[in-house]
Amino acid sequence: MITHDILIVGAGLAGMRAAIAAPPDLNVALLSKVHPVRSHSVAAQGGINAAIGEQDSWEAHAYDTAKGGLYLGDQDAIEAMCREAPQDILELERMGVIFSRTPEGRIAQRPFGGAGFPRTCYAADRTGHALLHAMYEQLMKRRCRVYEEWYVTALLVEQGRCCGVMAWDLVHGGLQALRAKAVILATGGSGRVFSTSTNAVINTGDGMALAYRAGLPLEDMEFVQFHPTTLKDTGILITEGARGEGGYLLNTLGERFMKRYAPEQMELATRSTVSLAIGQEIQEGRGVDGCVLLDLRHLGRTRILERLPQIRELALEFAGLDPIETPIPIRPGAHYQMGGVQTNAWGETGLPGLFAAGECACVSVHGANRLGGNSLLETIVFGRRAGTRAAAAIRDYDLRPVPEDVLKSEEQRLNTLLTNPGPERAWQIRDDLGKTMSLNLGIFRTKQSMQEALGAIQALKARANRMCVQDKGRIFNTDLIQALELQCLLDIADTIVVSALGREESRGAHYRADFPTRNDSAWLRHTVSHRQEDGPQLSYAPVTITRFPPA
Ligand SMILES: Cc1cc2nc3c(=O)[nH]c(=O)nc-3n(C[C@H](O)[C@H](O)[C@H](O)COP(=O)(O)OP(=O)(O)OC[C@H]3O[C@@H](n4cnc5c(N)ncnc54)[C@H](O)[C@@H]3O)c2cc1C
Repeated sequence: MITHDILIVGAGLAGMRAAIAAPPDLNVALLSKVHPVRSHSVAAQGGINAAIGEQDSWEAHAYDTAKGGLYLGDQDAIEAMCREAPQDILELERMGVIFSRTPEGRIAQRPFGGAGFPRTCYAADRTGHALLHAMYEQLMKRRCRVYEEWYVTALLVEQGRCCGVMAWDLVHGGLQALRAKAVILATGGSGRVFSTSTNAVINTGDGMALAYRAGLPLEDMEFVQFHPTTLKDTGILITEGARGEGGYLLNTLGERFMKRYAPEQMELATRSTVSLAIGQEIQEGRGVDGCVLLDLRHLGRTRILERLPQIRELALEFAGLDPIETPIPIRPGAHYQMGGVQTNAWGETGLPGLFAAGECACVSVHGANRLGGNSLLETIVFGRRAGTRAAAAIRDYDLRPVPEDVLKSEEQRLNTLLTNPGPERAWQIRDDLGKTMSLNLGIFRTKQSMQEALGAIQALKARANRMCVQDKGRIFNTDLIQALELQCLLDIADTIVVSALGREESRGAHYRADFPTRNDSAWLRHTVSHRQEDGPQLSYAPVTITRFPPA
């Protein structure tokens, strides 16, 4: 049987950073459903925040993060992240990350939304690519074992401790149990719950679903960030860096409409503010073909080619226009899950032996709205912290036997999928789920729209119980993986809708037309969802406030 000291599920930035943090004498392995450098981290464009500027301070970064998250972030975790960020950036540089430079040769920083200082370090508009490849080199140097193209289907829990995972080997086919003294979930986001999304097709919330099914709580799932600027039709991200470099947002009248919504910060207001403003412009008839325009023309050819080369390429290839000459049609799209597996600031979950880091975790530093550039930072800081803490914890842990019941029930679940008569297939249900969620749980939400979504999800679940996997083979059965991913998406959608219905206020990314104001006296608290037979059960938990009282 395969056995390791620590198993990390996910080989994006958080997973790889955790692996590198563990001392070399430990036997650490990673599992990933795709090759590590195809993880969604590779798509990050704009940059990573750290207060390394001479005039900047980690306290100012922490303040911006708490305020930007509408005070729903836990400030102990925010403080840890912002305090440790500069050291982590320097370490990344030493690992070989090719950050863009100032003329003096220092790491360059650009302004991002909601930040009081230009503190976003970047590598042109391909920051995630630069980070992920440097991290992969470090991983190779450590000779960590990577189970590439293995899909984790369940957590193993024995006598109150996580002791491994069940995984399907995509290349050869077949379900296997892998034992470990500790498991770290680093499975990324769940943006594919929505049809209009910037996320990779693999971002199906698997890790969150695994933890949820093992009885662990998911926190603040109603807070899904809609990125203001995604490309018309495809939903491909147009980085906030485009506005950071000075891009304008225009409506059909050619007006910079942000002056009516955020006269001081204009295009660099927080993402939730800009998304709501765009939504309102479109709703009130001042949009352009269901979009508004992002105008970069005044930046000039040289600057666009130097700072935003990928954006230009994306616009040329996917919208058939050159931003040097023509404004880009954009609209908001689902981008980031602020919620996730509940952890403390060391990545510890409520289950001994199980840790979580990166987008799948809710530490929580982003509160009701994540600032651009803080998510890459989260993967690095909390990936490192989770790896360090897991390594320390397992010194007292033994290896446990594989629980028989999980082995049997997983085999049965896969067998059911492979023998179901259908005729419907997973993609059809996934399509309908995405449309329902985008329509009813987008930037504007109401009780009625959410109840409609809840009813629709129940019907989709019934359809999913009968869905069939047409490919009956074992080798590279992506049809089977899609069916398993759909089951995760449905669980995650359920928690998003139920949590959003529960929160009767508007805060950050959660905007309810029927409760349009923020209500601190009733709702300055985390939503916690637990799995029950008949759907998510909600409870609420206090927010940790240290130095920044809600204002
Ligand atoms: C287009 C785009 C641009 C972005 N730009 C920025 C930016 O400029 N700045 C910023 O701060 N943030 C940005 N973000 C957000 C940020 O990139 C992500 O939140 C972050 O990279 C997530 O990293 P992660 O390590 O948690 O997960 P990921 O990088 O998504 O990796 C998840 C890993 O888990 C594995 N996995 C998942 N499920 C399973 C399973 N069942 N079995 C086995 N393996 C599994 C995957 O194979 C993968 O290796 C952006 C996001 C997107 C979508």
